[in-house]
Amino acid sequence: MSKLTLDRILQSQGIGTRKYCRTLIVDDEITINGEVINDYREKIETDGLIFTLFGEEWQYREHVYIALHKPPNIECSRKPSHHPGVLTILPEEFTWRDLQPVGRLDHDTTGLLLMSDDGSFIHAQSSPKRHVPKIYVATTHDPVTPELVAQLLSGVQLNDEPAPLAAVSCKMVDTHHIEIVLEQGKYHQVKRMLVAAGNHCTALERTAIGGLTLAALALDEGDWCYLEPEQLALLV
Ligand code: URA
Repeated sequence: MSKLTLDRILQSQGIGTRKYCRTLIVDDEITINGEVINDYREKIETDGLIFTLFGEEWQYREHVYIALHKPPNIECSRKPSHHPGVLTILPEEFTWRDLQPVGRLDHDTTGLLLMSDDGSFIHAQSSPKRHVPKIYVATTHDPVTPELVAQLLSGVQLNDEPAPLAAVSCKMVDTHHIEIVLEQGKYHQVKRMLVAAGNHCTALERTAIGGLTLAALALDEGDWCYLEPEQLALLV
């Protein structure tokens, strides 16, 4: 249970600056349980709070955890250099929160990307000690062969790694698609492993993180959704 003044609540939800939020409140734009609240100093219980702004319902969220089906030609970096950043395809309120990608995908990789403004969650998920399997489907330039699968399973040497890196599991999907499951998240790992194994990828999609799959989320490319506790529990 925690109470905050209404102006702080609105600001924390990414609605705008404190000054702007106060203006909205004084202008009778906020209702809670059908009642207009126009005193921005009023302390409100945030637990389970739902308020209405311009007729639209907002659920108070201390932190946000979202899943995005990342399209190609979008950079995960906070300072993108060649393509639009990932925040540009999300609603504006996320720009006001300190929303960050949880692990990155290359600009041309598509698929499941998690984002959050919860520092401890990001830190925990990104820790190399966590062995959360991530599933990728790569489109290959040359046909997938049993030798390619075997090599990725036994381990391939990347030039800046002390020891060979192996896929946790790996299987041919069809002649030009291979599913690779990794527990590490090294720089361009899937692409470099395929090159080291004598093939290369022409497209890459991340289809799952732990038990959370893009298919179950049913997100079209560019779409996003909030992750609720039962979905976050699948990220083990
Ligand atoms: N491996 C890659 O090569 N690229 C990604 O975006 C993710 C994993």
